[in-house]
Amino acid sequence: MTSEQLFQKALKLMPGGVNSPVRAFRSVGGNPFFVSRAEGASLYTVDGEELVDFVCTWGPAIHGHNHPEIKKAISIALDNGTSFGTPNPYEVEMAEKILSMVPSIEKVRMCNSGTEATMSCIRLARGFTKRDKIIKFSGCYHGHVDSLLIKAGSGALTLGNPDSAGIPESFARETIVLELNNLAQLTEVFEKHGFEIASVILEPYPANVGLIFPDTGFLRKLRELCTNAGTLLIFDEVMTGFRVSPGGVQQRENITPDLTALGKIIGGGLPVGAFGGKADIMDYLAPLGPVYQAGTLSGNPLAMAAGITGLRLLQELNPYEQLNQLGVQIRDALLSAANKKGLPLQVPQIGSMFSMFFSENPVRNYDDAIASDTKLFQKLFRYCLKNGVYLPPSPFETCFISTAHKDSAIDKACEVLQAGIAEI
Ligand SMILES: *Cc1c(COP(=O)(O)O)cnc(C)c1O
Repeated sequence: MTSEQLFQKALKLMPGGVNSPVRAFRSVGGNPFFVSRAEGASLYTVDGEELVDFVCTWGPAIHGHNHPEIKKAISIALDNGTSFGTPNPYEVEMAEKILSMVPSIEKVRMCNSGTEATMSCIRLARGFTKRDKIIKFSGCYHGHVDSLLIKAGSGALTLGNPDSAGIPESFARETIVLELNNLAQLTEVFEKHGFEIASVILEPYPANVGLIFPDTGFLRKLRELCTNAGTLLIFDEVMTGFRVSPGGVQQRENITPDLTALGKIIGGGLPVGAFGGKADIMDYLAPLGPVYQAGTLSGNPLAMAAGITGLRLLQELNPYEQLNQLGVQIRDALLSAANKKGLPLQVPQIGSMFSMFFSENPVRNYDDAIASDTKLFQKLFRYCLKNGVYLPPSPFETCFISTAHKDSAIDKACEVLQAGIAEI
């Protein structure tokens, strides 16, 4: 069956024909393509096309698709059974690996998605501090957790309903939403409410409303305000963990959060999340403490085997400088094409992450991001897709590069992106 036939069938069987909303292409127009196989930096569609992939399964595939060593690790684990429901040796190895890589984590718990990780961090912070209120920042996405799905960027933003139906107002009332990079506002809220706030959660490099960087000193000041108020600082590094450095943003910026949420890369392409932090806080979790959290498939041996191998490869290859060079090459290609055409374009980039805002000025927060010209992005997306390059199907997603993106794939992508910008 072709993509079109599969999608028409899927529409009758699943809401919107998809199992996750952004996949439906609503914000770029047209219908999604179906993929039958992925290898290295390429997706192969059921329609016989090959696409250079800059979505990388929304972040996890830092080693590209179907990496032979990850595949082998899964198949070895598979020989011994898919799930035991008891402790297994892989969990211990995974925990050791995470502790050795992520500076702030003294104890860790595995779960099955990034959403579970952030949800559990929030519950743990509330249980530990015995406070109810939390602070989040507009444009930061932390998965589809009730209390965090407010001004949440990404899919919610793309669909034009930043606040989801089905979330009681009384839940939303416990969430204070602030503007990124607005230190005056942050300081004022801490002066008034500091001692009621259980935690502040943020993506330390927000990457779900396009890519935004914190102003110099913003994260450090936030750390200081939290420490003084007894508020726990939660870094959601589901996207940035193992991506911007082995130890995530916290390592790059040398800031120690109390809790960290992880996901995506940590599963090597299988469904995994994790959260961890200071030992005395983590010991508040059941079975030691009063905060309940559990999972039938948490620490699953196949998922652990894939994740451990993915992390080991990062340690062995240390690909961060090489990935950054590719990121810079794409950024420069985009900027020079836009410059030639006289189009205002911002390309925030760090290492293997970049995004595009058609906007005069650098984007510092949610309002700046949604004021950018999304129509131009849609045109560029469609041009690239027609010419074998798959960008994320939304102007508010971040593009990813993997170690499987060979120079030839990057050169091709740069050509297509430049031709696309000339055309739109
Ligand atoms: C993807 C993402 C999540 C949610 O992870 P899921 O595995 O999709 O539940 C949470 N936080 C951030 C920063 C993310 O990018």
